[in-house]
Amino acid sequence: MAAPNKGKTPAKKPAGGGGPAKKKGKPASSRYEISGNSIKRKNKSCPKCGAGTTLANHKDRRTCGKCGYMERN
Ligand SMILES: [Zn+2]
Repeated sequence: MAAPNKGKTPAKKPAGGGGPAKKKGKPASSRYEISGNSIKRKNKSCPKCGAGTTLANHKDRRTCGKCGYMERN
């Protein structure tokens, strides 16, 4: 009997530093969010527009400027 493997596997977090991360021009200079004492880099991409379109970070939510998708923190 095989155990049912249900549930989503958590997305892998890109470890900071080296790595085969794809870069596409666009210097991600001010694309980070400071929440409490931790800094969040790499904005989440819009689930509707797909990777490439990052959500804008707000105080307690993220929004997509393209389709208007909103996600609460
Ligand atoms: Zn979008």
